[in-house]
Amino acid sequence: MAQMHTPMMKQYLQIKAKYQDAFLFFRLGDFYEMFNEDAIKAAQELEITLTGRGQGEDRIPMCGVPYHSADSYIARLIDKGYKIAICEQVEDPKTAKGVVKREVTKVLTPGTLMNSKLLAEKENNYLLAFASEGEDGWGIARCDLSTGESDVTLIRGGSAELLQEIAASGVKEAIAPAGLEEELKAKLGEQQGFVVSYEEQEDVPKEYERLINHIQQPLLKRAYGRMLHYLLATQKQSLRHLQQVVFHPADSYLKMDVHAKRNLELVQTLRDKKKSGSLLAVIDQTVTAMGGRLLRQWIERPLVDRKAIAGRQAVVEAFLEHFFEREQLRDCLRQVYDIERLAARIAYGSVNARELVQLKRSLQNIPEIEATLEQVGLGGRWLNQSEQFADLVSLMEQSLVDDPPLSLTEGGLIVDGYNEELDAYRDASRNGKQWIAELEQSEREATGIRSLKVGYNRVFGYYIEVTRANAHLLPDGRYERKQTLTNAERYITPELKEKEALILEADEKLADLEYRLFADIRKQVEAYVASLQKLAADISEMDVLAGFASVAEQNGYTKPTITESRDVAIKGGRHPVVETVIKRGSYVENDIDLTGDRDMLLITGPNMGGKSTYMRQLALTVVMAQIGSYVPAAEATLPLFDQIFTRIGAADDLASGQSTFMVEMLETKDALVKATPHSLILLDEIGRGTSTYDGMALAQAIIEYIYETIGAKTLFSTHYHELTRLADSLHTLRNVHVSAVEENGTVVFLHQVIEGAADRSYGVYVAELAGLPKQVTTRAEALLTELEHLPQRPTSASVEQPIDSAKTETAATAEEPQQLSLFPTDEETKPKQPTKKERSVLAKMAEVDVLHLTPLQALEKINEWQKQL
Ligand code: ADP
Repeated sequence: MAQMHTPMMKQYLQIKAKYQDAFLFFRLGDFYEMFNEDAIKAAQELEITLTGRGQGEDRIPMCGVPYHSADSYIARLIDKGYKIAICEQVEDPKTAKGVVKREVTKVLTPGTLMNSKLLAEKENNYLLAFASEGEDGWGIARCDLSTGESDVTLIRGGSAELLQEIAASGVKEAIAPAGLEEELKAKLGEQQGFVVSYEEQEDVPKEYERLINHIQQPLLKRAYGRMLHYLLATQKQSLRHLQQVVFHPADSYLKMDVHAKRNLELVQTLRDKKKSGSLLAVIDQTVTAMGGRLLRQWIERPLVDRKAIAGRQAVVEAFLEHFFEREQLRDCLRQVYDIERLAARIAYGSVNARELVQLKRSLQNIPEIEATLEQVGLGGRWLNQSEQFADLVSLMEQSLVDDPPLSLTEGGLIVDGYNEELDAYRDASRNGKQWIAELEQSEREATGIRSLKVGYNRVFGYYIEVTRANAHLLPDGRYERKQTLTNAERYITPELKEKEALILEADEKLADLEYRLFADIRKQVEAYVASLQKLAADISEMDVLAGFASVAEQNGYTKPTITESRDVAIKGGRHPVVETVIKRGSYVENDIDLTGDRDMLLITGPNMGGKSTYMRQLALTVVMAQIGSYVPAAEATLPLFDQIFTRIGAADDLASGQSTFMVEMLETKDALVKATPHSLILLDEIGRGTSTYDGMALAQAIIEYIYETIGAKTLFSTHYHELTRLADSLHTLRNVHVSAVEENGTVVFLHQVIEGAADRSYGVYVAELAGLPKQVTTRAEALLTELEHLPQRPTSASVEQPIDSAKTETAATAEEPQQLSLFPTDEETKPKQPTKKERSVLAKMAEVDVLHLTPLQALEKINEWQKQL
């Protein structure tokens, strides 16, 4: 820049140069100011006024936000996916020589937030980093700085797999090594609020090695190391609250890719991305923020460990048998604040007195929580070292007032009797104030002036005020005039001055001492950070499981039997979400029988009949069972699934830029390549995205492939009625259909899933229900009847013979699917040769001069021709 900069602007530019990718909030007095491009962009994003600094050509764009309300502006920028570097004055402006020294004290980024005002209570706020090694795959590390939790996973595959994993893991920010930054930005950067950052260092800093020493894979350590370097660079302080890193081997949980998680609407709905309407919303009856977060984590990674599932079920069962105690426990838990995030703030040294009081209130509930657990028969399962908190509680009880102010520097934090020196200052201050309070009365008596007042202002301190008219009544000597107002005079006396000095000194010392005492208490609490984190983990778990019991009771869930076999047997199953949104009691229960040699169900029936609800119902039931919850059914037997694959039409495909059909095939490919006999595959209307022949051929080939090569439990819905014949040759495939009946010319969906193939398509009726013009539906009805009465072409031999996948294509295309006959075949469109008689009539018709014919003559002619034919 050609401008001549003031020393302060020079300082600004120097600092800004190091934080190119962030808004630099530059502290100037009571404001954070931004300059140049930062100012222009911030003014736009925050809708604040853009001003300028300097004159003429040197004028620099500038805007600012008040220091005390900066949080809300910061929140808005972070939410939009920006980073903010906070630059503070690090020396006292009063004593500074030249420009006040300034430094960036913290960089706020979407993935590293600590401030509870900026965080969603029941959601983790994840930062992710990864490291790669040639073809070996990816080490991925994730951390929620606000809770101190970290985990690592290893995934195979190329950058497509990596992107999928990142999209699925719900992170706010990903740290990429050089080279991958751009690719990541291009692919994921559009997601609202998602940020890609960069960091190259990978060695785990010595101080933090103990957190990851139990993990061997170098790739995981490198990813974790990269994350730590980034955290240290943004936080600019040590991170004592980071917890042991948790390792999730890929086969230690039920896997669902990003499509499955989205399609099944596990934690948010597809359409508006809200929690409400998701599985999580239905089963989340947790009463603490920590429990809410843990439940999300469980849904993200359902178990595949029989014993662990049984363990959770046993707790739910115990809670169900003890209604009263359970509710008592949950009442206690409602009093418990977010101990996990409080612990993090304690470790950070940023906790205030109010938060410590929250911690105290939380911990005061422990004895009752323990007693209740004992009554439920769960004593000893959690809270094994809770005695230690008694000391902590009494420390806080004996030191902190119940309702301290937010500010730590203005006193009012510490109770009387905690510290002698403090008490002495307080006495002095109180005595002085008491003396002043009594002064008014005594002065009135001494002077005989009844309207005399004692007051205080910040400039003159304490004063005695009398009206101008009464001023002459004051005796000489003792009263020194301090201030003259229009109607009154203000005085001080030597005693008043002395008391005032005492009070002010005491108050100042008081505030100072209180701050020191508080800092000392905070330091003592710091020693408990690790045990508080353990306590938080215990509380979240009991909260989630008590919530499972509560929702099971409310919604009539049952305990699923996890079988060693591959059998799926569900009686009276329901869709956990749909049943809660429709009229109470109107959900139609359905059985699912995939026992013995039954591996695949081909589901046919009218649109809107309930096919996809039935499929999702099974997947959600499996997820619920494998997180240890009860399930919406009268009876349920389930195996342990290793993976769930779904291909269910999704609205958001359109936005992704890929053609719907391509997405459909990509998702299907994933299932076909990765599924095992222990997987669950849901394929909804495969082939819908392409022409009918194509679609049907693919659908059949896919079913055959799953049958021959994978053998996974599969639900396959289709509108290709012809596919139902496959049941004759594929011995593990069964037809089922959703039922509907016609009543008075309209269709009524019964939502009942019945064995066997559906007998017809109800498309026209659905069109009618949707309100298409009568003309259209009547015409469609007529066409349908016509098509149904067309002579069928000979069907291919494939129906009777066992299907050979090599023949699939010919088998499918050689058939004449009924649905296809909407398009005229060659046979129908080829003009027929006219007969001799017809030719002569046609010739006569051609000769007629229509313009010179009356209507009656015309009729006579037609009559004549007809007779000739
Ligand atoms: P399809 O996939 O056959 O087109 P859906 O599964 O989307 O049909 O179901 C259509 C609607 O029918 C759903 O939105 C739901 O409200 C209702 N429905 C589905 N199954 C049931 C059921 N078992 N009981 C009651 N209503 C149901």
